[in-house]
Amino acid sequence: MDQSDVGSDLAEVLLTEEQLSKKLDEMAAQIDADYAGKDLLLVGVLKGAVMVMADLSRRLHHPVQMDWMAVSSYGSGTKSSGVVRILMDLRADLTGRNVLIVEDIIDSGLTLSWLVSNLRSRGPESVEIASMLRKPDAAQADVDVKYLGYDIPNEFVVGYGLDYAENYRNLPFVATLAPHVYGG
Ligand code: 5GP
Ligand code: MG
Ligand code: MG
Repeated sequence: MDQSDVGSDLAEVLLTEEQLSKKLDEMAAQIDADYAGKDLLLVGVLKGAVMVMADLSRRLHHPVQMDWMAVSSYGSGTKSSGVVRILMDLRADLTGRNVLIVEDIIDSGLTLSWLVSNLRSRGPESVEIASMLRKPDAAQADVDVKYLGYDIPNEFVVGYGLDYAENYRNLPFVATLAPHVYGG
Protein backbone atom coordinates (compact mmCIF):
# COMPACT_ATOMS: atom_id res chain seq x y z
CA MET A 1 0.00 0.00 0.00
CA ASP A 2 1.32 3.41 -0.99
CA GLN A 3 0.97 6.19 1.57
CA SER A 4 -1.29 8.11 -0.83
CA ASP A 5 -3.78 5.19 -0.74
CA VAL A 6 -4.33 5.88 2.95
CA GLY A 7 -6.32 8.96 1.92
CA SER A 8 -9.51 6.97 1.37
CA ASP A 9 -9.26 5.58 4.92
CA LEU A 10 -9.40 9.05 6.40
CA ALA A 11 -12.50 11.10 7.14
CA GLU A 12 -11.03 14.46 8.06
CA VAL A 13 -7.66 16.02 8.83
CA LEU A 14 -8.03 17.57 12.30
CA LEU A 15 -4.53 18.98 12.67
CA THR A 16 -2.08 19.66 9.86
CA GLU A 17 1.67 19.21 10.01
CA GLU A 18 1.98 23.01 10.20
CA GLN A 19 -0.40 23.26 13.16
CA LEU A 20 1.51 20.54 15.02
CA SER A 21 4.82 22.23 14.25
CA LYS A 22 3.66 25.63 15.50
CA LYS A 23 2.45 24.14 18.77
CA LEU A 24 5.69 22.19 19.25
CA ASP A 25 7.64 25.46 18.96
CA GLU A 26 5.52 27.00 21.72
CA MET A 27 5.71 23.98 23.99
CA ALA A 28 9.50 23.76 23.61
CA ALA A 29 9.96 27.46 24.40
CA GLN A 30 7.92 27.06 27.61
CA ILE A 31 9.84 23.96 28.65
CA ASP A 32 13.18 25.68 28.00
CA ALA A 33 12.11 28.61 30.17
CA ASP A 34 10.63 26.50 32.99
CA TYR A 35 13.56 24.11 33.34
CA ALA A 36 16.40 26.63 32.86
CA GLY A 37 19.32 25.59 35.06
CA LYS A 38 17.61 22.34 36.06
CA ASP A 39 18.17 18.70 35.24
CA LEU A 40 15.47 17.25 32.95
CA LEU A 41 14.55 13.68 32.04
CA LEU A 42 11.98 13.22 29.27
CA VAL A 43 9.96 10.03 29.62
CA GLY A 44 8.25 8.96 26.40
CA VAL A 45 5.34 6.56 26.50
CA LEU A 46 5.66 4.04 23.69
CA LYS A 47 4.62 3.72 21.03
CA GLY A 48 2.35 6.71 20.47
CA ALA A 49 4.66 9.39 21.86
CA VAL A 50 7.58 8.65 19.52
CA MET A 51 6.75 11.49 17.11
CA VAL A 52 6.11 14.05 19.85
CA MET A 53 9.28 13.04 21.66
CA ALA A 54 11.42 13.31 18.53
CA ASP A 55 9.97 16.62 17.40
CA LEU A 56 9.69 18.27 20.83
CA SER A 57 13.13 17.24 22.09
CA ARG A 58 14.83 18.54 18.94
CA ARG A 59 13.30 21.97 19.52
CA LEU A 60 14.67 22.22 23.06
CA HIS A 61 17.84 24.16 23.70
CA HIS A 62 17.90 22.67 27.18
CA PRO A 63 20.08 19.57 27.58
CA VAL A 64 17.88 16.56 28.38
CA GLN A 65 18.05 12.86 28.85
CA MET A 66 15.41 10.54 27.40
CA ASP A 67 13.96 7.29 28.58
CA TRP A 68 11.02 5.19 27.45
CA MET A 69 8.22 3.18 28.97
CA ALA A 70 5.64 0.97 27.38
CA VAL A 71 2.31 0.59 29.13
CA SER A 72 -0.88 -0.98 27.95
CA SER A 73 -4.40 0.14 28.66
CA TYR A 74 -5.93 -0.58 25.28
CA GLY A 75 -6.14 -3.76 23.21
CA SER A 76 -6.09 -3.44 19.45
CA GLY A 77 -9.49 -1.71 19.64
CA THR A 78 -10.51 1.82 20.50
CA LYS A 79 -11.79 1.62 24.11
CA SER A 80 -9.79 2.03 27.33
CA SER A 81 -9.80 -1.05 29.53
CA GLY A 82 -8.87 1.03 32.57
CA VAL A 83 -6.32 -1.63 33.50
CA VAL A 84 -2.72 -0.47 33.10
CA ARG A 85 0.16 -2.89 32.68
CA ILE A 86 3.85 -2.03 32.40
CA LEU A 87 5.11 -3.77 29.25
CA MET A 88 8.57 -2.17 29.44
CA ASP A 89 9.88 -0.19 32.37
CA LEU A 90 12.31 2.76 32.52
CA ARG A 91 16.01 2.12 32.85
CA ALA A 92 16.63 5.44 34.59
CA ASP A 93 16.58 5.85 38.36
CA LEU A 94 14.15 8.70 39.05
CA THR A 95 15.51 9.63 42.47
CA GLY A 96 15.84 13.42 42.63
CA ARG A 97 15.11 13.87 38.91
CA ASN A 98 12.82 16.36 37.20
CA VAL A 99 10.67 14.10 35.06
CA LEU A 100 8.58 15.29 32.13
CA ILE A 101 6.25 12.64 30.73
CA VAL A 102 5.83 13.07 26.97
CA GLU A 103 2.53 11.76 25.63
CA ASP A 104 0.61 11.67 22.38
CA ILE A 105 -2.92 11.98 23.74
CA ILE A 106 -4.95 12.16 26.93
CA ASP A 107 -8.27 10.46 26.36
CA SER A 108 -9.89 9.14 29.56
CA GLY A 109 -6.75 10.16 31.44
CA LEU A 110 -6.73 6.78 33.21
CA THR A 111 -3.34 5.73 31.85
CA LEU A 112 -1.62 8.98 32.71
CA SER A 113 -3.09 9.40 36.18
CA TRP A 114 -1.88 5.88 36.94
CA LEU A 115 1.52 6.61 35.40
CA VAL A 116 1.99 9.88 37.29
CA SER A 117 1.38 8.21 40.66
CA ASN A 118 3.59 5.28 39.69
CA LEU A 119 6.49 7.60 38.76
CA ARG A 120 5.93 9.84 41.82
CA SER A 121 6.41 6.79 44.04
CA ARG A 122 10.00 6.45 42.73
CA GLY A 123 11.34 9.51 44.56
CA PRO A 124 11.68 12.11 41.76
CA GLU A 125 12.04 15.84 42.41
CA SER A 126 9.07 16.58 40.13
CA VAL A 127 6.76 14.89 37.61
CA GLU A 128 5.00 16.93 34.93
CA ILE A 129 3.17 16.09 31.69
CA ALA A 130 3.48 17.29 28.11
CA SER A 131 0.84 15.97 25.71
CA MET A 132 0.18 16.94 22.12
CA LEU A 133 -3.54 16.12 22.27
CA ARG A 134 -6.31 15.99 24.86
CA LYS A 135 -9.99 15.07 24.63
CA PRO A 136 -11.65 17.15 27.37
CA ASP A 137 -15.05 15.48 26.84
CA ALA A 138 -13.63 12.00 27.49
CA ALA A 139 -12.01 12.74 30.87
CA GLN A 140 -12.59 10.13 33.56
CA ALA A 141 -9.57 10.97 35.70
CA ASP A 142 -8.14 14.31 36.74
CA VAL A 143 -4.82 14.85 34.96
CA ASP A 144 -2.83 18.06 35.34
CA VAL A 145 -1.16 18.71 31.96
CA LYS A 146 1.52 21.37 32.15
CA TYR A 147 2.28 21.56 28.40
CA LEU A 148 -0.60 20.93 26.04
CA GLY A 149 -0.78 21.00 22.26
CA TYR A 150 -4.44 20.90 21.25
CA ASP A 151 -7.82 20.00 22.73
CA ILE A 152 -9.74 17.90 20.20
CA PRO A 153 -13.32 16.53 19.97
CA ASN A 154 -14.13 13.17 21.53
CA GLU A 155 -13.41 11.15 18.37
CA PHE A 156 -10.91 8.40 17.65
CA VAL A 157 -7.96 9.87 15.79
CA VAL A 158 -4.89 8.47 14.04
CA GLY A 159 -1.57 9.79 12.78
CA TYR A 160 1.41 11.54 14.33
CA GLY A 161 2.22 8.42 16.36
CA LEU A 162 -1.38 7.33 16.97
CA ASP A 163 -2.52 4.02 15.50
CA TYR A 164 -5.55 1.99 14.63
CA ALA A 165 -4.50 -1.68 14.86
CA GLU A 166 -0.87 -0.49 14.46
CA ASN A 167 -1.52 1.36 11.22
CA TYR A 168 -1.34 5.08 10.39
CA ARG A 169 1.30 6.00 13.00
CA ASN A 170 3.58 7.53 10.38
CA LEU A 171 1.05 10.03 9.03
CA PRO A 172 2.58 13.48 9.65
CA PHE A 173 -0.86 14.93 10.57
CA VAL A 174 -3.79 13.96 12.85
CA ALA A 175 -6.98 12.67 11.21
CA THR A 176 -10.22 10.85 11.91
CA LEU A 177 -10.90 7.52 10.23
CA ALA A 178 -13.56 6.81 7.64
CA PRO A 179 -16.33 4.45 8.91
CA HIS A 180 -15.40 1.68 6.42
CA VAL A 181 -12.07 1.20 8.24
CA TYR A 182 -13.98 0.13 11.35
CA GLY A 183 -16.01 -2.27 9.25
CA GLY A 184 -18.89 0.23 8.99
P1 5GP B 1 -6.41 7.09 28.11
O1 5GP B 1 -5.93 6.19 29.21
O2 5GP B 1 -6.17 8.56 28.40
O3 5GP B 1 -7.85 6.83 27.81
O4 5GP B 1 -5.61 6.74 26.77
C1 5GP B 1 -4.51 5.90 26.79
C2 5GP B 1 -3.91 5.67 25.44
O5 5GP B 1 -4.90 5.22 24.52
C3 5GP B 1 -3.28 6.88 24.75
O6 5GP B 1 -1.97 7.17 25.21
C4 5GP B 1 -3.28 6.40 23.31
O7 5GP B 1 -2.17 5.57 23.05
C5 5GP B 1 -4.58 5.62 23.22
N1 5GP B 1 -5.65 6.48 22.67
C6 5GP B 1 -6.52 7.25 23.34
N2 5GP B 1 -7.32 7.94 22.49
C7 5GP B 1 -6.92 7.59 21.25
C8 5GP B 1 -7.34 7.98 19.92
O8 5GP B 1 -8.23 8.81 19.67
N3 5GP B 1 -6.67 7.40 18.89
C9 5GP B 1 -5.66 6.50 19.07
N4 5GP B 1 -5.10 6.01 17.99
N5 5GP B 1 -5.24 6.11 20.29
C10 5GP B 1 -5.86 6.66 21.36
MG1 MG C 1 0.09 7.39 24.56
MG1 MG D 1 -2.90 2.40 20.15
